[in-house]
Amino acid sequence: MTDTYTSLVNGGLTGSLAKKLGLPRPSVLRRHTPGAPLVTGPVLVLGGAVGTGDDADAVARTLLGWDLDVRRTAADDTARWGAVVVVLTEATHPDDLSDPVRELGSVLRSLAPGARVVTVSRPALATDAPALAAVRQGVDGILRSVAKELRGGATGNGVVLAGDVTVDATSVHGALRFLLSARSAFVDGQLLTVSSDAGSAPADWERPLAGRVAVVTGAARGIGAAIATTLARDGARVVVVDVPAAGEQLAKVANAVKSTALQLDITTPDAGTRIIDHAVRRHGGLDIVVHNAGITRDKLLANMKPEVWDSVIAVNIASQLRINEQLLASDAFRDAPRIVSLASTSGIAGNRGQSNYAASKAGVVGMVRATGPLLAEVGGTANAVAPGFIETDMTSRIPFATREVARRLNSLQQGGQPVDVAETVAFFASPAAGGINGTTLRVCGQNLVGA
Ligand code: NAD
Repeated sequence: MTDTYTSLVNGGLTGSLAKKLGLPRPSVLRRHTPGAPLVTGPVLVLGGAVGTGDDADAVARTLLGWDLDVRRTAADDTARWGAVVVVLTEATHPDDLSDPVRELGSVLRSLAPGARVVTVSRPALATDAPALAAVRQGVDGILRSVAKELRGGATGNGVVLAGDVTVDATSVHGALRFLLSARSAFVDGQLLTVSSDAGSAPADWERPLAGRVAVVTGAARGIGAAIATTLARDGARVVVVDVPAAGEQLAKVANAVKSTALQLDITTPDAGTRIIDHAVRRHGGLDIVVHNAGITRDKLLANMKPEVWDSVIAVNIASQLRINEQLLASDAFRDAPRIVSLASTSGIAGNRGQSNYAASKAGVVGMVRATGPLLAEVGGTANAVAPGFIETDMTSRIPFATREVARRLNSLQQGGQPVDVAETVAFFASPAAGGINGTTLRVCGQNLVGA
């Protein structure tokens, strides 16, 4: 699926014309290529007083450990910044925001293309002193606004440390690395909560899933095929699942990822057991399940036939619930298992004509929130990824004018690619995300729809 407009406005002659006409010019996003540097320039770490041993110093040390060029001050620096990390965990009053945010503002014009702004903060709780809750919630407002001001394919996201999680927790490192990297190209304006210090750093950050066995449903095409390819690139052995009618395409994906295919309708009552049996028999175990298969059957609720409602619920949520029960009951799914489900921004914001789809996708958000603690009992996690507008067969069926509006209505002014969703799924499946559980992360370029 291509976005011709973005190609044209970035082309030589047509690009200059678009500039003269003042047309929006979405940037070509920085995407992951194995071996490429994590960021494209020096990293500025703001917050705290330099050298006082506070959280900002700890973050700077972590980044130095990744061989990044880290600076603690922007003064007299003509660098094109690859990233700015603003550590605000120790702020106690909104007045404390002034210095670090002013410094952030002073470097926003000198960010490199594809740069990253990442805040590190703590959540605002009802039990906090009002001024503390105000400054903590204030970080959300800063982050979401700055993300909307960035240009050149740069993004802004935040890591939120819940409870007594420290900046040195494995998943804080994992989240920071993911948000700084090109893997998070289409994640923008989002806050990712780390809820425990579970998880472990991979032996090799380029192949974090080495030795793991993954199953991806709906993998014959689109986002599912991209997830299979990305998990395989990261070292996993991947079983690809799709309906028998998509068997030929499924076999091609299985060949491409050098693994096995399982033709299966996920609404089959024993689908979970059949997935486990296949993975154990052919690959010796099962560690990661990605619930990607999904359908849309759009109708205004007033016109929706019961069977149309039921089919969407059956595929998009009821089957996932049933498969998860079978996974949780199996001794084969016990080694730090991971479940990653596909939600949708439609489930978060609602969408005209999609009450069935939105019910199922909001259902996924609720399901992972409640499944996370069950998985934690066996050292695992359950999370969801909520894509916005992604260039696939599903969205190519949207009428032209609606499609063109939908794909521009985000801070990056373009649709995402299937690989953008796949990268976030791979991150949730990785050992360094073991402390992130029960959450839903939007991959939507900060779509204006919803929160
Ligand atoms: P797609 O229609 O291109 O592919 C979905 C795949 O799921 C197909 O190969 C299909 O055969 C398979 N499938 C459907 N029913 C199945 C069943 N009962 N058993 C097994 N396989 C089945 O869709 P896509 O755009 O790649 O979307 C993938 C997921 O991402 C879906 O859950 C979708 O709701 C979600 N999503 C997509 C977008 C987007 O913009 N494309 C946005 C938000 C969410």
